[in-house]
Amino acid sequence: MRECDILVVGAGPAGSMAASTAAPHCDVVVVEKRAHIGVPKQCAEATSESIFKKLGIQTDSKWISRKIEFARLISPSGIKVNLKDERIKQLKFGYILDRKKFDKGLAERAARAGADMYLRTVYLGAQRENNAITVKARQFDTDITFKTKVVIAADGLMSKVAKDFGINSVTNIRHLESCCQYEMTGIEQESCIELYFGNEIAPKGYAWVFPKENDTANVGIGILPTEAEHPAKYYLDKFVTRLNLSGKIVEVNAGGVPVSGPLKQTYGDNVLIAGDAAHMANPVSGGGIHTAMLSGKFAGDTAVKAVQNEEYTKKNLKEYEKLWKAEFGRELDLSLKGRLILEEFTDEDFDATAQWMNEKGVGQLGSLDLVKFAVKRHPKFALKFASFIS
Ligand SMILES: Cc1cc2nc3c(=O)[nH]c(=O)nc-3n(C[C@H](O)[C@H](O)[C@H](O)COP(=O)(O)OP(=O)(O)OC[C@H]3O[C@@H](n4cnc5c(N)ncnc54)[C@H](O)[C@@H]3O)c2cc1C
Repeated sequence: MRECDILVVGAGPAGSMAASTAAPHCDVVVVEKRAHIGVPKQCAEATSESIFKKLGIQTDSKWISRKIEFARLISPSGIKVNLKDERIKQLKFGYILDRKKFDKGLAERAARAGADMYLRTVYLGAQRENNAITVKARQFDTDITFKTKVVIAADGLMSKVAKDFGINSVTNIRHLESCCQYEMTGIEQESCIELYFGNEIAPKGYAWVFPKENDTANVGIGILPTEAEHPAKYYLDKFVTRLNLSGKIVEVNAGGVPVSGPLKQTYGDNVLIAGDAAHMANPVSGGGIHTAMLSGKFAGDTAVKAVQNEEYTKKNLKEYEKLWKAEFGRELDLSLKGRLILEEFTDEDFDATAQWMNEKGVGQLGSLDLVKFAVKRHPKFALKFASFIS
């Protein structure tokens, strides 16, 4: 039996941030089912420069595959809108990471801070007894038991840990974007991420081309399967043909993104839930790296406090939810409302919006102008938009 103060399940961005935050103060164990952290990659790898500044993390040049200067939105009929400067910061893009190196780099930070890393170790279940938690896991073929005070669930989508602690983490298929992506060579693109919209192109989602180093790029698609006639790969192949991309596929990635907005409750007795496990991805962009890192840090901070005060009940862990909500709760809330509106957009709406953005000059427009424009086209959106204005 290995005793520890805090046990983190999952060594993605959320888990490694939680571990590196807590390890200087407590005895921290991380269990990760994969043998190689960050592999397979299930990500288009875009994130903002500002998240590293906010968390005071020195970026390693190995983590960054390409610096992004701007984003381009492309409407169904091909109208291009270039988003630069402030707008790109709001969209939280700025880097295309190398997730395999980045996730490993964050895990190395956690290990250097003192966390004990158990790789190829699957979390199997947990039981609470006398305010302590017994966790069962399997490393290779050997069963191991941990005794801990706080568990941090950073085990990604459909978190088993959250479920075992009585928190429903199942993502309704209606709120799960199904993504498929090819990493391709032979794609020459300026340092700009491209996002393509349209109900034929990507039903209730979007398609993307994100350039990486040299001539490689992530070319992918996210769709809502309940609103689509075919699986994501079908739309991705059509998209590649549509763009006439002649590059070669060197990697295939697939995965789901929760776009429901965060779980109603992200803490319980002896447990904190972070990142994708708590459905913290942005419902419009699908980006979840920044919220995983932030929530991981807040979970680490809260768990340390609980250990120091020897208080692990949900009343004492509640502060975690206040912390992440203060930092990005509004972003997720507004994005969810924005998503519900975008889901009703016809291809004509996308085209008209793109044309209008270009006519007005993107740099001159705030989100309220976009709201007014959409309401003018569809008065039924007025109610949904009320919360943007308040
Ligand atoms: C195709 C695709 C493209 C995306 N593109 C972007 C993007 O461009 N930008 C962006 O910001 N976000 C993107 N995302 C979302 C982003 O990848 C996630 O939000 C982010 O990885 C969440 O981090 P996390 O640490 O919460 O979870 P994860 O990164 O999923 O990490 C969870 C970890 O837990 C481990 N684990 C799970 N179960 C167990 C268990 N029982 N025992 C032990 N370990 C376990 C897993 O092996 C994994 O390492 C994309 C997602 C997909 C699917």
